[in-house]
Amino acid sequence: MFVFKFGGASVKSAEAIRNIVAILQRYQEDKIVVVVSAMGKTTNTLERIIECYTGKKEEGLKKEYKQLKAYHLDIVNGLFEDKNHPVFVDVNDLFDDLADRLTKDPTLNYDFDYDQLICYGELLSTTIISHFLNQSGVDTMWMDIRRSLKSDNNWREARVDWELSTRLVNENFIFNGERILITQGFLASTINDQTTSLGREGSDYTAAILAYMMKAKSVTIWKDVPGVLNADPKYFDDTLLLERLSFLDAIELAYFGTSVIHPKTIKPLQNRNINLHVKSFIDPDAPGTLIGNISYDKLIPSFIFNMDQVLIRTSPHDFSFINEDNLEEIFGILNKHGMKINLMQNSAISFLLIVNNDKRTLRLVVDELEEKYKVAHQTGLELITIRYFDTSTIDRVMINKELIMEQRGVQNIQLLVRDLG
Ligand code: ASP
Ligand code: MG
Repeated sequence: MFVFKFGGASVKSAEAIRNIVAILQRYQEDKIVVVVSAMGKTTNTLERIIECYTGKKEEGLKKEYKQLKAYHLDIVNGLFEDKNHPVFVDVNDLFDDLADRLTKDPTLNYDFDYDQLICYGELLSTTIISHFLNQSGVDTMWMDIRRSLKSDNNWREARVDWELSTRLVNENFIFNGERILITQGFLASTINDQTTSLGREGSDYTAAILAYMMKAKSVTIWKDVPGVLNADPKYFDDTLLLERLSFLDAIELAYFGTSVIHPKTIKPLQNRNINLHVKSFIDPDAPGTLIGNISYDKLIPSFIFNMDQVLIRTSPHDFSFINEDNLEEIFGILNKHGMKINLMQNSAISFLLIVNNDKRTLRLVVDELEEKYKVAHQTGLELITIRYFDTSTIDRVMINKELIMEQRGVQNIQLLVRDLG
């Protein structure tokens, strides 16, 4: 049994979905659990819908909802000629459900409401693709992941209950004659069946969880890139494909922000020594990247660019030193608002944090820090991480940049810079 994961870009249109069906048809002999994300940029649209809903912006809400529905119906129309096909009822039912929820008053818990609404992206994509696979002669069963993957109620960043979920997954994910079980990435639910989500881009993680629990032979993540590259082609012209990558390197690269794999994905696979392939859905014959229990002697430097970074400088009002109590308090505030730290450094009288410019969270964090500390923040920065760095790789990324802060380890260097160009 294999696990395949298809992300938003691979299912963003009728044409893209036809392509993934063609990919699945190449594996006639195999049983595959297929994990799918929401189509295209649907999760971003749902986030805007949630903002409008909780902020009571009715007009924006109506507009975004209409567009989301039109986008999905367009895809369904492109895939199914028979307008009496049950997919039309199923998709309309999901949109009615969503509309229904949006007419109710928001609760006081934004993150809870978020999870109850964000799930429609994956519910829609899997419903549509499941019907289309069956119509295309690939016997497929649609599975609601929320019946099997159980988590705590840490909304938007839920933690999986491994023991209970392993039991339920193995009870429910049974191939009864069909070759494909298709399910939603990114989602789970509490013991009381309230929907939770595993963090943005969490579908890769779902694939790894299922592979671990079901002892899959391997996982393949299908992407619009040839595999894991040593830099994002957006910022580099001569990128290299990393054909083989150790679990440790993959964890490090994902942790520092390589957008190809979600950071939590590797650990469960490493624990069971399950290989992870990252392959191109545009060129499925190409080998892609193999991540596994691998060693190599030639180390290829990798570059990770995190754009739009914010430097937060926190110092006690009375010019006293930063001590453990302060740090505990500062981390507590960040943790409470779910803000992730990309880099940190302390000096005698201030503590420096580099974070993503997530405006809503940033405002909450800065407001709360300001109650106790002098806080200054600087936006518009870039954080560059080089794994297996040397002077020439540093020189290469520092062209036209001002260095604001640096952190050097044995294998990795992190450079916080301002673009001068
Ligand atoms: N649809 C979710 C997101 O966009 C999960 C995923 O794609 O992995 O974050
Ligand atoms: Mg994704």
